[in-house]
Amino acid sequence: MAKVSFIGLGIMGTGMVGNLVKAGHDVTVWNRTAAKLKEIEKIGAKTVSDPADLLKDADFFMYCLADDAAIKDVITGGHNLAAKVKPGTIAIDLSTIDPQTSDEERVIYEKNRVAFLDAPVFGTKGEARDGGLWIVIGGDETVFNKSLSVLKPISETTHYMGKSGNGAKMKLVGNLLVASQIVSIGEALSLAKNAGLDLRKVLEVAAVADFKTPIYAGVGAGVIKGDYEVNFPLKLMLKDARLIQAFAKRFNSPVTIASTTEELAKEGVDAGLGELNASAIVKVISKRAGVDLVE
Ligand code: NAP
Repeated sequence: MAKVSFIGLGIMGTGMVGNLVKAGHDVTVWNRTAAKLKEIEKIGAKTVSDPADLLKDADFFMYCLADDAAIKDVITGGHNLAAKVKPGTIAIDLSTIDPQTSDEERVIYEKNRVAFLDAPVFGTKGEARDGGLWIVIGGDETVFNKSLSVLKPISETTHYMGKSGNGAKMKLVGNLLVASQIVSIGEALSLAKNAGLDLRKVLEVAAVADFKTPIYAGVGAGVIKGDYEVNFPLKLMLKDARLIQAFAKRFNSPVTIASTTEELAKEGVDAGLGELNASAIVKVISKRAGVDLVE
């Protein structure tokens, strides 16, 4: 059993904490919105009202925060927790952020003799709840191996990607693939509808043919019911589309899908859809196509 300090009771962090507690770890949590702390106490986590209180005697300091701004507010600036963690602790950032921000974290932790892993996750609300995430990790391999006791309870698989920052990079590469599938299923269903095809039959084909993916199946099933219940909010997809472009620009590597995704996601967020699921990109596409995809 390890002493785990955790920050971030969002869609993902809440599920992660549940599985760390279930695995028998001694978990203490802080969240910016204090109301969420009451709920997490019910499942056996301890809570603190001041994040500095998390850092006294943790073996692992884990966090899953919204974006780079949150990391800057809590970890590298603002509360500045990276500079306050006690030496010997292992810090693990599970958020999706710019690899450059991840590198800034590493530098501060190194100065403080704290080991650091960038460990963003694939999967969404259900996988977080069920301990079935797919985690991509950068950092020292010995530290990665020492951290398996806290990574395994929240994941189906862990993928050691190499040096620090490689987890953050892999996450953006993977989210480019996710974005491309959401945009393509939106365009394909809109075209099919305009062309008079039965969308249930279209999805039957998409479920078995050599282009099938769980995203086509999941997003497709949702949009024909008009179900955009949030797992991965559209506002975070917009953030990721921007991160992918900034990241790719450093290598002059084309990511046309990310710029298309940004344009569509921004239109959705501006229309008030930001708290809906990222599949609301399909809503934006179908509106442009002049079709209603609900069957
Ligand atoms: P979320 O539900 O929006 O939760 C975000 C968390 O960050 C909340 O605990 C929030 O605190 C906290 N936060 C945001 N800004 C903050 C700030 N300035 N200071 C302190 N705390 C702050 O997001 P999520 O869906 O759990 O996602 C968390 C991370 O995982 C993101 O980087 C996301 O891209 C990534 N991710 C998400 C999914 C998904 O399907 N949802 C999948 C893979 C990866 P409050 O409670 O006070 O708002």
